[in-house]
Formats: sequence, structure tokens, C-alpha cells
Amino acid sequence: MVDLTQTYDVVVVGGGNAALCAALTARQAGCSVLVLEHAPKAMRGGNSRHTRNLRAMHTAPADVLTDSYMEDEYWDDLLRVTGGQTDEGLARMTIRASAGAFEWMRASGVKFQPALSGTLSLSRTNAFFQGGGKALLNWEYMLAEQWGIDILYDTEVTALHMDDGFVRSASLTCHGFPETVKGKVFVASSGGFQGNMEWLKHYWGEAADNFLIRGTPYNKGRVLKNLLDQGVAAVGDPTQFHAVAIDGRAPKFDGGIVTRLDCVPFSVVVNKDGKRFYDEGEDVWPKRYAIWGRLVAQQPDQIAYSIIDSKAVSLFMPSVFPAIGAPSIGELAEKFGLDPKTVIDTVAEYNAAVRDGKFDNTKLDECRTEGLTPPKTHWARKIDSPPFYGYPLRPGITFTYLGVRVNERAQVLMDNGVPTGNLYASGEIMAGNILGKGYLAGFGMTIGTVFGRIAGAEAAKHARN
Ligand SMILES: Cc1cc2nc3c(=O)[nH]c(=O)nc-3n(C[C@H](O)[C@H](O)[C@H](O)COP(=O)(O)OP(=O)(O)OC[C@H]3O[C@@H](n4cnc5c(N)ncnc54)[C@H](O)[C@@H]3O)c2cc1C
Repeated sequence: MVDLTQTYDVVVVGGGNAALCAALTARQAGCSVLVLEHAPKAMRGGNSRHTRNLRAMHTAPADVLTDSYMEDEYWDDLLRVTGGQTDEGLARMTIRASAGAFEWMRASGVKFQPALSGTLSLSRTNAFFQGGGKALLNWEYMLAEQWGIDILYDTEVTALHMDDGFVRSASLTCHGFPETVKGKVFVASSGGFQGNMEWLKHYWGEAADNFLIRGTPYNKGRVLKNLLDQGVAAVGDPTQFHAVAIDGRAPKFDGGIVTRLDCVPFSVVVNKDGKRFYDEGEDVWPKRYAIWGRLVAQQPDQIAYSIIDSKAVSLFMPSVFPAIGAPSIGELAEKFGLDPKTVIDTVAEYNAAVRDGKFDNTKLDECRTEGLTPPKTHWARKIDSPPFYGYPLRPGITFTYLGVRVNERAQVLMDNGVPTGNLYASGEIMAGNILGKGYLAGFGMTIGTVFGRIAGAEAAKHARN
């Protein structure tokens, strides 16, 4: 039984990887720890349970990681995706600590496996969790239980009450009932706000109704907003999120990675008016993977359709929902509720612009269009071999960038730059300090693990003093 009348050494808000890393670290240091997870037990683990891997620096082959991946290369990769929207000091510290974070996970019994085939060539840089994020989280929760960490599921933290830079208590809704808990130290690890449709609508209007959320519905940003309202310093563009194009038939929440579609480079993509709007063959898919979420979000009704013919079917990872097929382009368009004539014309115009070249799906090949706007600059082949297939595309939101500002000790900072007295943060809620824009595969889990470890250790030091 969890006793909410006691004052815990460390109260952790959230139940994903960043929270669990903080909780386990504080417990290893001898603290009494309470974890407050909004989701019910069956849905615990936030977006972390959807993940597959983390990115770790290594100077030599280590376990499943091949070759080496040094600080400067890692930093260059981060700089490229963020376009400089990162704090170099925090970022380099995170990169260096990623080696130890990976080793700590292994020492804690987390099992890794080599990169799966078809996984964006990550075998050198990223370690894959055996059984995926769900298995990782199950393991972390099992350790938490074994080590005597108290856990409350179905418990939403509604406010952290700050007074003079110190969090004095937390208000909760626990299984529907209001409660209060006291702690010497608090760690906020409650993710972003992408599960909060009202908040998304504030920036995106009604379009947000057509966004699909790839992960948990429980990340509503309630604690994030509460902290910002109390003068905590914000970081990251509040209007921005990471999104990819996913299957339009995916559920509103929690569709996870299987709803991703990799057909775009081998297709023509039309909007609901039956018109193309962007170069489908601009670059190899992993590099363009993320911009298509945004592109689809900018189309009427936030929907698009990727159309291929039978030549392309085996060129990409199979989709979780079967493709919609038809013997002709016109019939396919009808199945999507599009104007057949416009789509037939769009495909005919595209076919007429395709120039002969040697097709090679493994690299930027020479197959392209000429005189077409927008062009298709690679993998352009005529769409002329029935049956034809198509997929509806929607923007799938991965996470939002808005967060709280922290220092290298994971202390949350107030607007005036002064650290809060007893509040630390880890994971997505502070990731915007380092990843202000873009995405680097596996870096979200790295940030969560590194800052979870730091927050847990610092919280323990603080609680014992
Ligand atoms: C489909 C998908 C695949 C991904 N794949 C990868 C990958 O392979 N590698 C990678 O590095 N990153 C990946 N990411 C990103 C990754 O999920 C995040 O970077 C990471 O999980 C963040 O960890 P976190 O603990 O901060 O957040 P989360 O794991 O989302 O945890 C937040 C927790 O806070 C809880 N919570 C929220 N509000 C409250 C509240 N008010 N009170 C109590 N609890 C609350 C939630 O229930 C949840 O348990 C993926 C994301 C998605 C959606």
C-alpha cells in the first residue's frame, strides 16, 4: 500500500523511461521514491514503450554496437538535424554520457539486440532494445517493484505547488480522487503535450483534429503548463512538433511505429484535389521521412494519397494495413473519394514527364522527370503496371518541442535563470534544450536516460542533505 501521508525523498512525475531512470537511480542511492503515472498499469510507459533503440557514443565495438561512434561525429549529426538549435554544452555532455547510460542499462539487465534489417542503417550508432520499448519498460518497472519503489498508476499530477522556487507538494487525481503528496525533491518526467488536442488546436486550429498522435494519449502537458505558468523558463518553439507521414487508417493515439509508410519515394503523392505538391524522390527516405508529416499537415483536410503500381510493391517495408488496390487509376481514385479525372490527368502528366534512366532503389538514382512541377528527382518510373495501389497519409505527431529549461545538473530553471530549489526534469519535457528542432533517431531515449540518471542522482544528493 502506498502511504500518501509520508514525505517521500523523491517524487517522480511520469512513468516513461526518463521517469524510471530517475526513480531507479534515486532508489539505488537509498532514497524513498514514489512514481506517479497518469496511465493505468496496462498502458504504462508513455511513448517510451513505442521505441526501439537508443543512440550511444562508443569508442570501440560494444555489445551490439559495431565499430565506433565518437563524440564529434555524434555532435555533427545533431548539429545537422537541429540546424544549430541546441545548447552545445548540454548536448556534448549528453553525448559523452550516452556511453555510460548504455552501460548502466546493460548492467541493470536490459537486453539489447543488433539492428533489425530495414531499420535505416543504424547498426553502428544505435542499440536496439530486445523486444522493443515495451520490454524495456516492463524490465524497468520490474526492477522498480523489486527495489521497493512505490508506484501509483491511474494518477495524474494536476499541479506542482511552487513557493519561492521550491515545490512544496503535488496535487493528484488518483483513480479519480483528489490527493496531495509531499516530497523533499520532485522530478518532472511527464513528456510533451502532443496528447492535448486543445493545446495543439491553439496553434494549428481545426487542422489538429486531423492529426494522429503516434504515441500515448496521456502526455497532455499538464505539468509542463503548470510549471510555465509559475515562472519556470520555457525552451523550444511551442508551435512546433515532430511529425511523420503515417497510414491515415491508424488509430488516433498509440498506433506506434507500425503505422509508418515507406512507399512515398516510389509513388506519386496527391492531395484531396488530386494534385501533386512535392518532390516524392527528393532524397533517400529516412532523410525525408520527417518532412512529409509537415507537408501532409499543410494540405487541405490534412490528407494525401500515395499511389504506386505493381512494380513498386516489394520495394518498401510492408504496411500494417493492406494497400487499397484497383485495376485502374480512375477506380483507385474513386475508392479514395477523389475526382478520377483529375487523378488520371495527374498521373498521365507525371508519366509523360518521366525520363529513361537506370532505376536503383538503394541510392539516389538517375530516374527523374523533366518539365514537371513539382519535379520528381529520383526513382521516377511510369506508374503504368496494374494493379495500382494506394495508401492514405496523415500527419503522425511524435512529440512537441516545448519544454522547461534545465542546466547540466537537470535542475529546472526559473525565468530569471536561477535554478529551482528542489525540482529536476528528465526526458521529453526538457529535450528541447538539446533537440530544439528536427530529430536524430534514438536520441530521445538517450536524452531521457542520461537526464533521468542525472536527475535521480542529483535528487538523491539533495534529499539526503
Ligand atoms: C512511435 C514512436 C516511436 C519512437 N521511437 C523512438 C526510438 O526508437 N528511439 C528514441 O530514442 N525515441 C523514439 N521515440 C521518441 C521517444 O518516445 C521519446 O523521446 C521518449 O520516450 C521520451 O521519454 P519520456 O520518459 O520523457 O516520455 P514518455 O515515455 O512519453 O513518458 C511520459 C510519461 O509521463 C506520464 N504523464 C504525463 N503527464 C502526466 C501527469 N500530469 N501526471 C502523471 N503522469 C503523467 C505519461 O503517462 C508517461 O508515462 C519514439 C516516439 C514515438 C511516438
